[in-house]
Amino acid sequence: FETTPAEEKLQGANLTLEGLNTILREEKNSGKNLSPRPPIVTILGHVDHGKTTLLDTIRKASVAAGEAGGITQHISAYQTKKHKELITFIDTPGHEAFAAMRKRGLSIADIAILVVAADDGVRPQTKEVIEYLKEHKLPVIVAINKIDKPEAKPERVKQELAEHGVLFEEWGGETMCTEISAKKNIGIDKLLDSILLVAEVEDFRADQKRDGLAVILESNLDPQKGPAATALIRTATLKVGQDVTAGGAFGRIRRIEDWSGKNLLHATASMPVILYGFNTTPQTNDVVQVVSGKGLARLRSKEALLKDTTKSRTGKIQSEEEKEMKKLCIVLKADVQGSLEAIEQILSTIKSDEIALDIVDSGVGSITESDVRTAENSSALLIGFSSEPTSVAKRLAETSKVEIVTFNIIYKLVDALKERLAALLPPEIVRTDSGRLSVLAVFKTGKRDMIVGGRVSEGKMLRGSLLEIKRGDEIVGTGKMQNLQRNKENADEVGQGNECGVVFEGTIKIQVGDTLICYKEEEKRRTL
Ligand code: GDP
Repeated sequence: FETTPAEEKLQGANLTLEGLNTILREEKNSGKNLSPRPPIVTILGHVDHGKTTLLDTIRKASVAAGEAGGITQHISAYQTKKHKELITFIDTPGHEAFAAMRKRGLSIADIAILVVAADDGVRPQTKEVIEYLKEHKLPVIVAINKIDKPEAKPERVKQELAEHGVLFEEWGGETMCTEISAKKNIGIDKLLDSILLVAEVEDFRADQKRDGLAVILESNLDPQKGPAATALIRTATLKVGQDVTAGGAFGRIRRIEDWSGKNLLHATASMPVILYGFNTTPQTNDVVQVVSGKGLARLRSKEALLKDTTKSRTGKIQSEEEKEMKKLCIVLKADVQGSLEAIEQILSTIKSDEIALDIVDSGVGSITESDVRTAENSSALLIGFSSEPTSVAKRLAETSKVEIVTFNIIYKLVDALKERLAALLPPEIVRTDSGRLSVLAVFKTGKRDMIVGGRVSEGKMLRGSLLEIKRGDEIVGTGKMQNLQRNKENADEVGQGNECGVVFEGTIKIQVGDTLICYKEEEKRRTL
């Protein structure tokens, strides 16, 4: 009979990232069953300073070393070997929309590499990272990048970093610094050595005896293999055949692939792997935990029940206010969970009192027939981010008149949606006054029209304008200028100080002494 600690049971099937971090801290403090594990490294820094290039260069080097081949797909984590020691790298997306994910990503990492371009120096995101690292006491190695550039000034960058509180070893501090060129592959070996040195000092370890725990980095729906979850093993071992949960997803691990696509029977601490066998795609930051077969069976039957009730669900319950609002309904599909999260986060910041964006359904993977049907039922626009419709879905969309729009750039997607939302807004009426006329005489009073004469007291009268009639301090009516004459001849405009005749169309009866205010109205499309 195997016992499990009470505290673990308490946390139940849904361990959060914070809960996991607590467990890992306790594990470290207990000192029991610990074996060394590879360090987990993240690369941070200001945009364009070369984070992606550095990640790619290190990855390519390990592929060239013959450990794996033909990797073209985007992966959010990989491992490389240096002096027979493994190092795990995780990608923390640089887009501003991922700021929250970046911070959470950091909570997974053991070591941060702060990339600063030698030709640019300390920039806003560099400062943000320095602050975060200080706050969380995460070991950092500074990589001064782009030293191949003629305008590179590494010494000046170091000076700037020191001014921001980064204390380098060579100046009596603790922080290591390497000068590199990610593009030209200069200094990368030294950087890897520095990582191993920090790892040796920090001595990262994990429990080998307990059940494995992992964090989902991202997930997607593989058309052949089903839900695929990229996970980073945080402690112990996950094995093929184990029953697991991750947030709302669950299943039996059917297959484990390492980052290069190689099949594994088990995965150990710090390994980034792709797990297959979940019933649905788990969310980024969900924690993968092993459950008993019985636990899994219970989840399965619960899901079956839920499916029946959600099928009959048509949209959310709406408040009265919401019902009156004009709405743009969308069904959103993205390639990976991370993008989906980021897009939903940005879209949730669009605020308006008059219109609403309703995400009827969202998910990862290709746009399928079922997405088209959902969109059709809710008159929604079907949006794909790095996700294309299958050929069947495309045909179905054509016949059912569902519009599908796809994007590869987040801001373009957001802008397009904002534009569509803005088109739902009633246009703004912009009024421009051009002049005023003091009425000196009334020549003709018809049922719906009048001819009056007067002097332009301000600005000019423009033929075809709208007119407002002011008596004393009050506006008594409005109408339209049918014609404008000066010296008995038609005129397009009559300027200040001149006398003119106005053919007025409207029901209000103009009197001598009234003022006619001449103005134009334009409809302007609003933006969000
Ligand atoms: P990120 O936004 O930090 O991920 O930056 P990227 O990796 O996308 O790099 C931004 C630009 O800098 C790209 O055009 C890279 O080719 C270039 N770059 C990155 N590293 C180097 C380097 O070491 N030397 C030079 N000359 N250019 C580099």
